[in-house]
Amino acid sequence: MSQPNVLLLGPPGAGKGTQSSNVVDEYGVDHVTTGDALRANKDMETAHGAPREYMEAGELVPDPVVNEIVQAAIEAADGFVLDGYPRNIAQAEYLDGIADLDLVALLEVPREELIARLSGRRICADCGANYHVEFDPPAKAGVCDRCGGDLVQRDDDDEETVEERLDVFAANTRPVVEYYDEAGELVRIDGEGSPEEVWTGLHEEIEAAT
Ligand code: ADP
Ligand code: ADP
Ligand code: ZN
Repeated sequence: MSQPNVLLLGPPGAGKGTQSSNVVDEYGVDHVTTGDALRANKDMETAHGAPREYMEAGELVPDPVVNEIVQAAIEAADGFVLDGYPRNIAQAEYLDGIADLDLVALLEVPREELIARLSGRRICADCGANYHVEFDPPAKAGVCDRCGGDLVQRDDDDEETVEERLDVFAANTRPVVEYYDEAGELVRIDGEGSPEEVWTGLHEEIEAAT
């Protein structure tokens, strides 16, 4: 059987990256994530300027840039977990034309909890692994368990940019949630428990969908 194609939706800090790692470990699919791809190419020249300008303001990078990244990654993948895309209706319509999804799962987490998660998030500068200073600390402070790399705070995880990103989610990406909901494709997952509890719920849904 072919590998699952999973779309994870949710606001910044909901745990999409964390749960994507579980999907990759369980199913051996590719992790397709526009956030990581853009962070690795912040100063890439595009017809719309560099991604950095948008990202540091917490705004969306223009659709043609992200559409191209996602299309190339999906075409190269045998099964994927897609995280961070689509973030508006135009991207959702583009995705309809390039992929068949087995599961669209929304991680639901209240705003106060999102802010606590984002303010304590640390990522590995070398491999991109995710940590939290309180909720998911590494064995040794500041050092990645997986590769020994330095753990850093993302530029856009400061308080002001977090507020802006949550507002951008409400304005642009909530309609994407409704788009899949109206099509009868959306599965809601309680994202508030521990990472293990959330994974139990998500894993069950993937098994049921494939
Ligand atoms: P988070 O996981 O906290 O939601 P991401 O790593 O997915 O954040 O995204 C970081 C930033 O990268 C966004 O604030 C935005 O500027 C840009 N970005 C990521 N994905 C997209 C997308 N699909 N469309 C437009 N911009 C994007
Ligand atoms: P997203 O990709 O949706 O922005 P992340 O997976 O990066 O979210 O998670 C945001 C932060 O919250 C990270 O620091 C991560 O370690 C932490 N985190 C993820 N899932 C949980 C959870 N279920 N409970 C508490 N903290 C979590
Ligand atoms: Zn690492």
